[in-house]
Amino acid sequence: MDTSIFEQHESTIRGYSRNYPTVFSSASNARQVDEQGKSYIDFFAGAGVLNFGHNNPRMKDAMIAFLQADGVSHSLDTYTTTKRDFVSRFHDVVLAPRGMNHRMQFMGPTGSNAVEAALKLARLATGRREVVAFSHGFHGMTLGSLAATANDAFRKWAGVPLENIVRLPFETAPGGTTAVAEYAEAVADPSSGLTQPAAFLVEAVQAEGGVNVATAEWLRQIQDVAHEMGALFIIDDIQAGIGRTGSYFSFDGMGLDPDIITLAKGLGGFGTPIAMNLNKPEIDDKWSPGAHTGTFRGQGLSFVAGTVALDYFTDDTFLAEVRDKGEVMRERLQRIAETHAGQSWEVRGRGMMQALDTGDGAFAKLVQQEAFEAGLLIGPCGSGGRVIKLIPPLTIPEDDLTAGLDRLEQAIETALEVK
Ligand code: PMP
Repeated sequence: MDTSIFEQHESTIRGYSRNYPTVFSSASNARQVDEQGKSYIDFFAGAGVLNFGHNNPRMKDAMIAFLQADGVSHSLDTYTTTKRDFVSRFHDVVLAPRGMNHRMQFMGPTGSNAVEAALKLARLATGRREVVAFSHGFHGMTLGSLAATANDAFRKWAGVPLENIVRLPFETAPGGTTAVAEYAEAVADPSSGLTQPAAFLVEAVQAEGGVNVATAEWLRQIQDVAHEMGALFIIDDIQAGIGRTGSYFSFDGMGLDPDIITLAKGLGGFGTPIAMNLNKPEIDDKWSPGAHTGTFRGQGLSFVAGTVALDYFTDDTFLAEVRDKGEVMRERLQRIAETHAGQSWEVRGRGMMQALDTGDGAFAKLVQQEAFEAGLLIGPCGSGGRVIKLIPPLTIPEDDLTAGLDRLEQAIETALEVK
């Protein structure tokens, strides 16, 4: 395996390649194959991008047809036929059935770009500066989104102060169930020295933060408190959205109506980049034309594949499969945790984002390494990397799912012996 070209010429910043020390050469649905011909089951799916698998054939066909027809592959924010198809399909499949009249704002194609735009719009719309974000939240790497990200492993590289964020504990963290109400009460006191926030920014299921699942009640409380304070309620659905948790949005059915929803990752379907915020019209109206630009807002291939991706959500068939597979994952993790009851491991998750909190980053790393040897790709997350998060493509065949869970179970056994 020759990886020397990367080691010589690519930046030290390389991260995932250190976890997966091989050179991948092809991929199909939930499998990646390296140049030695070893096949890996992918339980990481590009950090939650490849919800519809590697090289999804339906999307591939549509993209090839688009390329053959000389479709417009880059369009800034000019009108194109492919963007029209995407916007109208998204409206018909996602917004209209939910009675949502949010507007679609495109920006640079990463999640961080989406969060930056949301923060900017919230501050613009309210004339306020501070945004409430939560412990263990992950919102991106650019300075504004990094300020909202909680993990010091990322924050410490900022080089400048990360400001204008108020940090409250997430529901599942110590003090999390009461903190929002206490904060609201404190801010209401004109002598508190606190200022009113522009927005509350929250993930309904924290992904990078360790797969922490918020309840509908807690999220509704944040929404109510935000609106009582004249602040916006923003849900970052960049990783937990687009079907991952068994519904299109991670907060579907919870009686929530966010002012802004940030989307990216799986939205482009094929791994083709695109980010989009859903802004309530009265808030969106605060923008002036061109106020927030981005060269890569009009990605033709992403619109084409992203439009095909919406076909999975025209009825509940696909999402029911996601929920069933999620149950298979959860049961297996629960069985593993019960087999090793003395370890006090915890199983958490919703839909096809399931996790085993081992409480020990070094151990989770060992499991990840053993899994890699056994032909399984996983990515630890949470404080110190102690949580083994499973996010396979939603389209994974059942036998690959079972085989992947077998490999994981074996890797855990081996890691326990080596430890
Ligand atoms: N928000 C959430 C919830 C995420 O999981 C991520 C990426 N892990 C981001 C924002 C940032 O997305 P990107 O890496 O595309 O900038």
